[in-house]
Amino acid sequence: MRLLLTLLAFLKMQGTPVCAAEMPGVSREISVEQVVRQLSSASWGGRAPCTRGHELAKQLLLKTLKDLNFETEIVSANSLQPWKGKIENVLAFEKKSRLNKCVVLAAHYDHNPPMGGEYSPGANDNASGVAAVLEVAKRWSEKNRVATQSQVSLVVSFPDQEENFIQGSQFVAAAVSNRCDKVLFTVTLDMVGVAFFRGFEKKFFVLGSESSNDLTELILKKQLTDTSTGVLSLAANISMIELLGVPRSDYSAFRNRQMPYLFLTAGMPSTYHTPADKADLVDFEQIVKTSEWLFELLEMTETQMSDREFQFIQKPTFIGDDQKLAADELLRSLMARPRENDLSVAEIEWIQSRMKLYSDPIYHPSKFELQLDVLRVIRIVSRKAPYPAAYLRSLIGKIFW
Ligand SMILES: [Zn+2]
Repeated sequence: MRLLLTLLAFLKMQGTPVCAAEMPGVSREISVEQVVRQLSSASWGGRAPCTRGHELAKQLLLKTLKDLNFETEIVSANSLQPWKGKIENVLAFEKKSRLNKCVVLAAHYDHNPPMGGEYSPGANDNASGVAAVLEVAKRWSEKNRVATQSQVSLVVSFPDQEENFIQGSQFVAAAVSNRCDKVLFTVTLDMVGVAFFRGFEKKFFVLGSESSNDLTELILKKQLTDTSTGVLSLAANISMIELLGVPRSDYSAFRNRQMPYLFLTAGMPSTYHTPADKADLVDFEQIVKTSEWLFELLEMTETQMSDREFQFIQKPTFIGDDQKLAADELLRSLMARPRENDLSVAEIEWIQSRMKLYSDPIYHPSKFELQLDVLRVIRIVSRKAPYPAAYLRSLIGKIFW
């Protein structure tokens, strides 16, 4: 009984699931500041999955993108934790008969559940990134590019459940590679509105350009123009923020599908993942300038680099085909007894979605991500009927060493 009460209290804390919420009043005139203030407002109460604020955020994004003449789509999937509800990624494509050369923008719109009785506003994490991406989309459509035959097609995405083991963007990356003939590169934005520390104002890191030689060249060219944009971009290798390939944001989903990637972030300020991550601490001008920088990067891509291959360069810490085969075999064998293990439909679907990823020849996650996936699956399927240790050991040996 005690456990049940705790569980109920926990579910209540997660917020009430919302099916039909009122449509927020927005238009193409919405500013960076309005987006950040609205997404992080106390009246919306945060953007944790399965809450009213999350639903309203999703509606706001869909409506704004439609107003900008994009074709919108929700790419949904099951979450690893069924109580967190469906993953609902927001995607938007230009209305063209064919999307041949795409550049994909991504900024997760979800945020954490309440902490210590207070809601989590997530103004910097990641209403700032969402606002920047919307601003770029606005500029792109203002230039009347949407529905015209520009060289480069813009894909806008707002992945869900980044705060929950970066789950949503995996499905974004898969959907994008289905829609676009070729993805030149992807740009993920996460926390671009608050300075990392005092003295770091109007600066941001550009990580990941080493994932393609053409991307490195593009960034070097762009940096020569930084003085005119009022922000300073600092290019660095992604290893600056990663240990052993432990991914930090949605860029990893694109990397796992061999798409060149950039990760734009101003760093992790002290308000990170606290109830103090509020709009009043956000530097709106920095977000505007960052989006201008990004828009110029897209223009530069179109005018100077759209004939390039943007070949992806794989990092050595990522898994090879032999490990993928072992993972595939393990997942399949674990899944062979779903009844005995009393798996729920959501769990089966989640494992199947993982199996689909690993059997895709283009998918090459980091060793860390693979190990995490395997451990999660073992935990789920061993709940009722544990597997013989020797058998597990032999299979896991192939994956973990
Ligand atoms: Zn974030």
